[in-house]
Amino acid sequence: MNNSPHPANLIYQVAIPSPLRRLFDYLPLVSDAAEQQVAEPGMRVQVSFGKRKVIGVIIAVNSDSNLPLDKLKAVSAVLDTEPVFSTSLLALLRWAASYYHAPLGEVLAAALPTALRQGKALPTEQWWRLTQHGKGLPEGALKRAPRQAELINLLQQGEHSHKQLLADGIGTTNLRTLAKKNLIKSYQQNLHAEPFATDKLLNEQPLALSSDQEIALNTLDLQSYHSYLLEGETGSGKTEVYLQAIARVLSEGRQALVLIPEISLTPQTLQRFQSRFNCAIAVIHSGLSDGERLNAWCAAANGSAGIIIGTRSAVFTPLLRPGIIIIDEEHDASFKQQDGFRYSARDVAVMRAMRERIPIMLGTATPSLESLYNSRQGRYQHLQLRGRPGPARQPTWQLVDIRKLQLTTGFSKPVIAAMEQALTEGNQVLVFLNRRGYAPTLMCHDCAWVADCKHCDARLTFHQHNAQLRCHHCGHREGAPSSCPHCRSDQLQYLGQGTERAEATLEALFPGVQVLRVDRDTTRRKDAMSNVVTKIQTGKPCILIGTQMLAKGHHFPGVTLVVVLDADSGLFSPDFRATERLGQLVTQVAGRAGRGDTPGRVMMQSHYSEHPLLTLLAQNKYPEFAERLCAERQFTNMPPYANLAVVRAEAISAFDANLLLEEVRKYCEAAIASNPSHRYLGPYPAALERRNKRYRYQLQIIAEQRQSLHNLLSQLSTWLETHPSARKVRWSLDVDPQDMT
Ligand code: ADP
Ligand code: ZN
Ligand code: ZN
Repeated sequence: MNNSPHPANLIYQVAIPSPLRRLFDYLPLVSDAAEQQVAEPGMRVQVSFGKRKVIGVIIAVNSDSNLPLDKLKAVSAVLDTEPVFSTSLLALLRWAASYYHAPLGEVLAAALPTALRQGKALPTEQWWRLTQHGKGLPEGALKRAPRQAELINLLQQGEHSHKQLLADGIGTTNLRTLAKKNLIKSYQQNLHAEPFATDKLLNEQPLALSSDQEIALNTLDLQSYHSYLLEGETGSGKTEVYLQAIARVLSEGRQALVLIPEISLTPQTLQRFQSRFNCAIAVIHSGLSDGERLNAWCAAANGSAGIIIGTRSAVFTPLLRPGIIIIDEEHDASFKQQDGFRYSARDVAVMRAMRERIPIMLGTATPSLESLYNSRQGRYQHLQLRGRPGPARQPTWQLVDIRKLQLTTGFSKPVIAAMEQALTEGNQVLVFLNRRGYAPTLMCHDCAWVADCKHCDARLTFHQHNAQLRCHHCGHREGAPSSCPHCRSDQLQYLGQGTERAEATLEALFPGVQVLRVDRDTTRRKDAMSNVVTKIQTGKPCILIGTQMLAKGHHFPGVTLVVVLDADSGLFSPDFRATERLGQLVTQVAGRAGRGDTPGRVMMQSHYSEHPLLTLLAQNKYPEFAERLCAERQFTNMPPYANLAVVRAEAISAFDANLLLEEVRKYCEAAIASNPSHRYLGPYPAALERRNKRYRYQLQIIAEQRQSLHNLLSQLSTWLETHPSARKVRWSLDVDPQDMT
């Protein structure tokens, strides 16, 4: 006789959040096996893993294992009654794990809201069904209990929720009695919700479309997969196109997933969706509590929300009836996750749309070179909105050559004069400076001591607000000294400027004018950004000073002058994408100007005013600018013309970090000796070589063919997992890296 508690050979193959890129086999619960209850792929299980209990996800149910059955443990609990990952979402995540060479368990964990990742149960409700015994009950057996007979009849036709049965007038006593007789049985099922209603979807009339908008909207094929790149300057009416496309999708009872860079910074975008549509909108972003996030996730999964708006990780939100995906500001770097599971939400979304056979629209004023390339290759269809609807016109640009000009803490005379004029005429001014804090360097004038971070190769930024020195790389903070810690001199100097200092300068230059600062320090509080936006929308003359946060899709119709204080910062960076980013940022900021009746004006201060790329930007020629950068990338054989992956290594000792990457390079060269189309750059120290006490090195692998790069990375990651020195060194693979510093 077989004494095994697991008569049927049922093996759960489970993905576990661990750095190991493999799956693990477990047996079912003893009680489940006895009842032949089989959990499904996509359900969460709790399992013992080493000495820990962890939450894993069933990937497959097999009848065999590579290990002997008596070596396998049983799962401790099955946590779900229905899969938390649908078959299609699970397949997408498996694709993502293999594309980004990330452990599947970590990928799945990253795709779940925290509450589910920690094992919390989904809200369920009680349902009833007949047992085997109940199904075989002879006709007329319950003649003397007509209510019970009626209940059996009801359940013959199908399962019913407890709530429904009570509403139908079946008392709990009847249920209990039949359950005791083993005729019916209750079980838990996920709480189901009504799908959103498709009548009266609109709260307000849509705008009459411009001809470009109409062409864009009419080109959309909502019934199958297509990628559209919707290019149009800020204010050209892209959002209106999204809204009307979404209206069509909703009217078919299907859902729209909208990804945007940072929700808390763009309360207006959300407002526009809310005032247009009369259906539930689930908002998913990092500011939510775990409970709120789970609710939003459920509303998307059960179909009660028609629109799901979220930041990067919302790309993994389950949708009951997906209809369209929209990525606003597709060029934005925040769509790429920079640590852990390093995915691009934009690229994953394109793959998701393809698998779900739905359209995806990537909107931007400044397309990424990748998306331009993809549209040139015919993978994306390029739609363009030219000009702006209504009276607003293109801003005029001016490059201010600040060589030899006298600067008042960063502001040149022509800029100050233009600001003066705009304010006198009752307009608003936006000043852009992508550096927060007061001054990036604190230096002793007598002995040249500089305040450096103990943990990084970086200077500490002085923050005047609380007289602190802060490291913007590792978060280290200390009180700012009042005299030089080295020579005791009190001749300390603040070099360079951040937004805090520019704010103080502007307050001194324009007494009586309100100066509003927008950066990560001033927008920490939840409603800080919407308070600023409200103040700006009063239209009173004021000066806005801020970082790239100001470049993210705001509508400031009162702003007629945009000042870019330092256009040079992106020109000489070790990151090959820095110039592209500068162009996108400056063009975006410029787009904030002149959205009302008055045309805008943009002034860019630079020491390199004849730089050809800046000149193109100053002619409002982002497309030509992008064209030039594309040509450079093609010439240097870099993305999007080649496929790039970075292997990063971090260690307490620079030697160890470098050595591991030397070995990685040797391994790769040997592994694909026959394929000359791979190139290597490095290992070399990262631009910020030491961060948070660790030395950082990089190796770039560049390949013409994506497939051969991926084959190599698969072999490499397996090799690295077992490599002895990989214990001393933290390593990671970054496919299609965005940040090269
Ligand atoms: P984008 O998303 O490209 O920045 P928006 O869709 O936000 O552009 O449009 C900018 C402004 O123009 C908004 O105030 C919007 O209401 C208005 N607008 C957009 N399309 C039209 C239109 N067809 N007719 C009139 N106004 C429009
Ligand atoms: Zn000194
Ligand atoms: Zn630091």
